[in-house]
Amino acid sequence: MRKITKLLIANRGEIALRIHRACHEMGIKTVAVHSTADADAMHVRLADETVCIGPPAAADSYLNIPNIISAAEVVHADAIHPGYGFLSENAQFAEIVELHNIIWVGPKPEHIRVMGDKVEAKRTAAKLGLPLVPGSPGPLTSVEEAHAIANEIGYPVLIKAASGGGGRGMKVVPSEEQLESLMMQAASEARAAFGDDTVYMERYLGDPRHIEFQVFGDGNGNAVHLGERDCSIQRRHQKVIEEAPSPVISAEQRAKMGGIVARAMADMSYRGAGTVEFLYEDGQFYFIEMNTRLQVEHPVTEMITGIDLVREQIRVAQGEGLSCRQDQITLKGHAIECRINAEDPQTFAPSPGLVKNYVAPGGMHVRVDSGLYAGYRVPPYYDSMIGKLIVYGSNRERCIMRLRRALEEYVVEGMKTTIPLHQRVIRDPAFERGDYTIKWLERWLEENPAE
Ligand code: ADP
Repeated sequence: MRKITKLLIANRGEIALRIHRACHEMGIKTVAVHSTADADAMHVRLADETVCIGPPAAADSYLNIPNIISAAEVVHADAIHPGYGFLSENAQFAEIVELHNIIWVGPKPEHIRVMGDKVEAKRTAAKLGLPLVPGSPGPLTSVEEAHAIANEIGYPVLIKAASGGGGRGMKVVPSEEQLESLMMQAASEARAAFGDDTVYMERYLGDPRHIEFQVFGDGNGNAVHLGERDCSIQRRHQKVIEEAPSPVISAEQRAKMGGIVARAMADMSYRGAGTVEFLYEDGQFYFIEMNTRLQVEHPVTEMITGIDLVREQIRVAQGEGLSCRQDQITLKGHAIECRINAEDPQTFAPSPGLVKNYVAPGGMHVRVDSGLYAGYRVPPYYDSMIGKLIVYGSNRERCIMRLRRALEEYVVEGMKTTIPLHQRVIRDPAFERGDYTIKWLERWLEENPAE
């Protein structure tokens, strides 16, 4: 066991603040590294030490490995937490951190690497006994092979890039005639976007939900699951609203699938937090990928389990092991998260700028994870998410009522935000019933233009 005394946060925005808070509650000092554009950020103000690591462009600052490592050495940080995005799933960065004898608050580099290649991830998942979307056993090697596999699994099929991410590099193939040309297009797009033209094939599921399991491993063969999150409310494959538990998963299904996932993580001696993502259709789960990091939507799981996931990550990184066994983890009530973006709620055009007035909602069971304050200027260089509103209720209905009330209170002046969109979506009867799939929000947006 090696106690962390000073942790460097290699990230920005709300997640940097989230990590800072967990550290201070554990008596750990924090170091904020930031670009010149983020000198006024809330987490930079609160951190014990700060180091400017470069100009605004992420490639020169938050992705600048030499500058981040130098910062850690200069301030004698004994750990680095990467948050999500940026370097969080960069196996090489994890290796470099460990080579410098700095504790990496994350999974083992070899697991980050395997799960970062989607073909390898599927092979590993299959070996560990997770159900897959039917498809090619590995990369597609020829057009003839693609035809044979597509005929076997049935059209429509989906061509996906092995190095894909963020929903890019995917092509739906409706019928045999288009297979060859769409396969070529997918490969050339993948080469352009990721420098790798490896593609594979999956059956295209018509109208699934996106359901993911939160897992935690101690790195020594013990692992638990913390139930699922339903992240089907998406726009362009980006999550907009997440909830836990899923409105359609029974306690039996959760115990069964959660058990399979936790056993898989134990078998691979997975370390730290992870999310195993599935599509879910007609009562069946289909593995699509695993994220080897903390997720944006982790607070909904924290709300219903009472477990602080960042604290847990730090414990595991220190070699203290998990704080609880599977039979000590119980889910209670319901939680929903709305991602608040600085965007036009109609066109989704980014709307950064000066925050003229800011009033966050409060009251019982209302959590706002955001670095916003009046007078802060949202920089135009990064992701448009400016905060997350997470609300708990003893059941889903009460949670939605509280969410409505909290959204009514939320005031952000000086820029457009997606708060009005959330207000409308959560009043839709289909949302209230929990009756939605990954395609629901885009259809809803077409059918419900704001007056
Ligand atoms: P990425 O890493 O690019 O985000 P994923 O494999 O996680 O790619 O898939 C992103 C989204 O694409 C899913 O949440 C789902 O909306 C859609 N998708 C992926 N695979 C399939 C499939 N086989 N059938 C239907 N939709 C899919």
